[in-house]
Amino acid sequence: MEKWETDAWQRVEADRTRMLYRQAPGAVAVTLAVSTGLLVAHTPAFDPLALAWGGVMLLLAACRASLAWAFAHAALPHLSIRAWDQLYAAVVLLMGVNFGIWPVMFFPEASADERLLGGLVLGGMAGGAMAVLSARRWLALTYGALLLVPGGAALIALGGTPERVAGVLALVYWVAMVVSVSATNRSVTDALFLSHRNQQLLDETDRQRAAVAEANHELERTQEALEETNRDLEQRIVERTTDLERLAAHDGLTGLANRSQLVQLAQHFLDPNAGPLAVYFLDLDGFKEINDSLGHVVGDSVLREVAGRLMSTATEAVALARWGGDEFVIVARRGPSADRDVQFAHALLGALRQPIYRDTLALRVDGCIGVAFWPEDGEDLDELIHGADLAVYAAKAAGTGQVRCYTDDLARVGRRQSRIKQALGQAIAARDPGLRVFYQPIFDAATRRIVSAEALVRWHHPLFGDVEPNEFIPLAEQSGDITALGQVVIDAVCRFAASVPAERLPTIAANVSAQQLRHPRFLSSVEHALSHAGLDPRRLTLELTESAFATDAEQLETMMHRLERLGIRFAIDDFGTGYSSLSYLQRLPARTLKIDRAFVAAIDGTGRPIVEASLSLAAAFGMEVIAEGVEEASQAEVLVALGVTRLQGYFLARPMDEDAMRALLL
Ligand code: C2E
Ligand code: CA
Ligand code: CA
Repeated sequence: MEKWETDAWQRVEADRTRMLYRQAPGAVAVTLAVSTGLLVAHTPAFDPLALAWGGVMLLLAACRASLAWAFAHAALPHLSIRAWDQLYAAVVLLMGVNFGIWPVMFFPEASADERLLGGLVLGGMAGGAMAVLSARRWLALTYGALLLVPGGAALIALGGTPERVAGVLALVYWVAMVVSVSATNRSVTDALFLSHRNQQLLDETDRQRAAVAEANHELERTQEALEETNRDLEQRIVERTTDLERLAAHDGLTGLANRSQLVQLAQHFLDPNAGPLAVYFLDLDGFKEINDSLGHVVGDSVLREVAGRLMSTATEAVALARWGGDEFVIVARRGPSADRDVQFAHALLGALRQPIYRDTLALRVDGCIGVAFWPEDGEDLDELIHGADLAVYAAKAAGTGQVRCYTDDLARVGRRQSRIKQALGQAIAARDPGLRVFYQPIFDAATRRIVSAEALVRWHHPLFGDVEPNEFIPLAEQSGDITALGQVVIDAVCRFAASVPAERLPTIAANVSAQQLRHPRFLSSVEHALSHAGLDPRRLTLELTESAFATDAEQLETMMHRLERLGIRFAIDDFGTGYSSLSYLQRLPARTLKIDRAFVAAIDGTGRPIVEASLSLAAAFGMEVIAEGVEEASQAEVLVALGVTRLQGYFLARPMDEDAMRALLL
């Protein structure tokens, strides 16, 4: 049997018991009434036995009623339903026995009328019991049997024909009762069972519905939690995105707009209805030195200070951005004239020039500004920045603290420069014969004998013609081609010098740029050039301009020391034009100072004290001095009088090609 069936049956049993008890009050009342009727109809009227019988019946009726009361009021909660059932059945059966005793005890002495009445009453009782006890078939049948069989038997045994007929009828009635009770009982059972099954199914449905509801509820809660989490997540994503946007839009160091933000902003400020604009491109001077000598922390704080000053000066600016390292872009509405815009640029530079105090240091930065105007100098931000960038380049060439406005000439120069860069790169890669090395002799001032020669690169291009080294060397430095170009020159120099006896040409000088020297393979490439040509390293001098030491001097110094160990010598070129600290000069392994030709040209005026100072410095450090750019005899005279021992310049010899140089030496 399945669980639900067992359950249902258990409930059916319980129901049956309940049905029995529910009928109890009526049954007790009927029983008492019928018993009283039997006693009243009995003769003799006060038969003690009959009264005793009635007393027993009364007792049992009381028991049955009490049980019914206790059941209805759940007075004995520890009793199982089965126990209630059995108790009830016991009392009912005892009643049945008591009824069954009546005909056995009293029919023999009774009149025929009393016997017939008794039989009728008992038959009626049995009929009533059929309904009242139908919930318990065996109880109904046993009770019916107790009521009918003794009475029926007594009637048959004791009486005449009518009584016998009644007795037989009573027995037949009992048989009919068996059939009827069974049928009633079955339908009661079925009804109960079905109703319980129904209830079970309903309960089951309810439970399932409840479970579904609970699951739904749980689902809703989960959904809510999920939505909450999602909202949370969305919120965080929004916050993160704004953070990212801010980071993406702003320069992390200065908090100014960055390049991409400026490009975005440009869509808004390049608006024909809003009027013309000026784009200022600011490039700092001296920042690299601060960064290199004092470190990035100080460098960063200087950049922040610069940003702050720009912000407080350019209050009317449409946009203010950090473009890159030490470059800033300011976009502002145009003033009433271009002069006013240039004035504004100078005001910006003026704000930067105020010393920046960091710890005990008063740091100074300056800068140059290139200006481009919208709409005349460019259609979009790209063109404007490019124009302003060209202008700042021109400003830098003119010196620090300069402002230049974009002109079409600058664009032309810019275009020429990029073409030259490209052509030069190709010429170097192809070892183009248009790239040649010229030599300019250096003379001993006293003996006028050649003591050295400076190698100077020359470039002839089929379209550009002869391009000045002063033009293409800086471009080669920008493009990085200087390393390869320098290698070409050093190879040629070593080959040429090795082909000339040392007595005729004791040393030879080649110009090297700082970038070249910093290249990791420079040392090995020089070694290779020397050994390949078979040149004594002591005959090779490398010229480095003073300005090369402006940045990262330590690295250069280390490299110079390594080369010096090979026997190579160094000269400081263009001395007096750049930044150099005396302590540095002392530490460098340089044997020669080359006085820049600007001071030679001005030897009768401002150049003289510088030449004198350079000479005493060189004497103090045990260095030799070469005066460059000597164009006139008078200049040579003065220089010699001041103590210069080596001379180089057009007055003595112009740079010449290898063949001419060899011819001069031999
Ligand atoms: P620099 O090293 O100062 O070279 C001397 C420059 O002065 C040369 O110009 C030379 O022709 C010029 N010069 C010599 N005597 C006189 C004179 O009496 N009067 C005048 N007005 N000029 C004179 P150049 O050859 O045009 O070279 C210019 C610069 O290009 C050089 O200046 C040097 O810095 C650079 N340069 C030349 N060749 C090379 C090279 O192979 N490598 C590197 N890195 N730089 C080079
Ligand atoms: Ca030189
Ligand atoms: Ca020079």
